[in-house]
Amino acid sequence: MRFKSTRDKAVHLTSAEAIKIGISRDGGLFVPENFPSVSVTDLATMCKMSYQERAQYVLSLFLTDYTEDELAGYCAKAYADEKWGGSETTPVVRIDDTMSICELWHGPTCAFKDVALQMLPHLLTGAMRKTGEDKTVVILVATSGDTGKAALDGFCDVDGTKIIVFYPENGVSSMQKLQMTTQSGKNVYVAAINGNFDNAQTGVKEIFSDREFEQLMAKSGHVFSSANSINFGRLVPQVVYYFSSYCDLVERGELKLGDKVNFTVPTGNFGNILAGYYAKRMGLPVNKLICASNKNNILTDFIKTGVYDRNRDFYMTASPSMDILISSNLERLLYTLSDEDDKLVASYMNELKEKGVYTVTGAIREKIAESFACGFCDDDETKAIIGKTYGEHKYVCDTHTAVAVGVYEKYRRETGDTTKTVIMSTASPFKFCKDVLEGLNVTEEMGDFERLEKLESFGVKAPASLATLREKEVRFSEVFDKSDMRSAVKEFLKI
Ligand SMILES: *Cc1c(COP(=O)(O)O)cnc(C)c1O
Repeated sequence: MRFKSTRDKAVHLTSAEAIKIGISRDGGLFVPENFPSVSVTDLATMCKMSYQERAQYVLSLFLTDYTEDELAGYCAKAYADEKWGGSETTPVVRIDDTMSICELWHGPTCAFKDVALQMLPHLLTGAMRKTGEDKTVVILVATSGDTGKAALDGFCDVDGTKIIVFYPENGVSSMQKLQMTTQSGKNVYVAAINGNFDNAQTGVKEIFSDREFEQLMAKSGHVFSSANSINFGRLVPQVVYYFSSYCDLVERGELKLGDKVNFTVPTGNFGNILAGYYAKRMGLPVNKLICASNKNNILTDFIKTGVYDRNRDFYMTASPSMDILISSNLERLLYTLSDEDDKLVASYMNELKEKGVYTVTGAIREKIAESFACGFCDDDETKAIIGKTYGEHKYVCDTHTAVAVGVYEKYRRETGDTTKTVIMSTASPFKFCKDVLEGLNVTEEMGDFERLEKLESFGVKAPASLATLREKEVRFSEVFDKSDMRSAVKEFLKI
């Protein structure tokens, strides 16, 4: 399997090379040259496997330059039972006859990002070995809250790597901030910036394409890579749980092998839902992928109209990991749906950069409508859903998951579609205690850890990794201007 760039399909790299570089030099994202196919017989085989084996199976279809032994070793470490609170890495919880919730947040940092970021350090260090890279890899991360912590945990004290995380000073929850600023490890650095997630992401992308800076880095023995979902190494591990949750439903007799399911995905950078689309293209029986947004509903408008227009207000919401106006991974979908028209994709991305808007062809719009549905919930609706889901099903969901539940319920009402649907639950409710409690009608002022205890009174157990944060020392408190991210990098690397 080789990897091409969405903006230049003459690019032809192995997966190790693509994972090491993270983003193509032309600014494009790496995409596989084809979708490996998984038949119903293969699915039946997968049903009998453990999560680790399912992961190895899917990874081996894309990452053909890694050996089966390497991948088996990576999967055993990344998805070890003790890291995921038991053998069910991503448990599927039944809510009613049509709706189930797949909990993707039982990993070390309590967000779905762990699924990919526990794996990425293994793929990356493997890639360095395979490509004969002797420089220290510097992972630059822009985060809307969860990627930062998950990447810090994954890369903490991994030999041959350093990691720098930028987060928007006022754009993450207090629990998310504490998780990052208390991170241990000799090779980690965390900096807040004055700005929002898009500013952080744009700043990181600019540093990646700054050739002068690259030379400065090379001279001091460093090379950049990315742990954001622009890195293909983040995407494949996410394809796994679409297959795995399907298999779980089959194994429990809730689904007949070959029957279709819907997935509803709380969406920001479009990485998670794109992994679902890849699974569908590989042969997983998927009816609709339902793209759920918060008040930053640029994707809802795009899927409905074919116009992607970021000239709009940016809102800070109760689901901060979805407060994004530039959904990077959409570029990969456009590449596939335009029949790999790299020039067209490059022109859309250029229009987005220059004018903030592009309009896709009618053909692309139709193909989007075949596979995707969409909708959004504002904060009031989100909190109401948290209360309603608890009231009706005694299930406490976080704000991001609640957006997806709300969008799915609207979809079910409007379309009458009763296809079994899996909601991708992307974070533990304990990461967003304040807003979750408001949804549960608890509005008194309290400290972060008092809230945590209060939330436990609703019959859910706080993850130890969050409860113990109160004893940890804050190590990072610097705030940089968004135009000054290069200085932060230089300061940390002492170059
Ligand atoms: C990152 C994140 C999302 C958005 O996922 P994308 O892959 O960026 O679309 C949704 N919910 C939570 C909790 C997240 O951390």
